[in-house]
Amino acid sequence: MQKTLAIVKPSTLKKNVLGKILTAFEESELSVLTAEIRTLSREEVEQLYSQHQGAFFFPRLLDYMCGGSVFLCVLEGEDAVVNLRKLIGPTDPVQAGEKTLRGRFGDDILHNGLHGSLSEERAREQISLLFS
Ligand code: ADP
Ligand code: MG
Repeated sequence: MQKTLAIVKPSTLKKNVLGKILTAFEESELSVLTAEIRTLSREEVEQLYSQHQGAFFFPRLLDYMCGGSVFLCVLEGEDAVVNLRKLIGPTDPVQAGEKTLRGRFGDDILHNGLHGSLSEERAREQISLLFS
């Protein structure tokens, strides 16, 4: 069994679709181990997206991710990291299929629905960053 981190981003949480997202996790054999609804600090978001520091969209990403409550959770399952990324879909919702969560709930490449850790190592780092 593997663990990963999912974050329902602020504009997605406001859409009142958390139940649909949790159902999609369940249907993909992803179990919720721990969850919380809160606002992320700037320091947390800077760490979460540290590989993008310096990117042209980084200031907007920071403002967006700190600008409202998120739902964050640790998910567990077989190949949970890859499984969650498949369920979430590609970064740009325009390219995401209608069965993916970004296809269903994303608005644009910034407000793209959810975050899912990219690798097992990043998942471990991000879980300890946000649940400590
Ligand atoms: P992913 O979330 O699919 O791993 P990235 O790691 O490339 O995508 O980017 C992290 C987040 O930064 C994205 O989920 C999205 O919210 C935002 N982002 C990425 N690329 C852009 C862009 N070109 N313009 C605006 N925001 C972006
Ligand atoms: Mg990424």
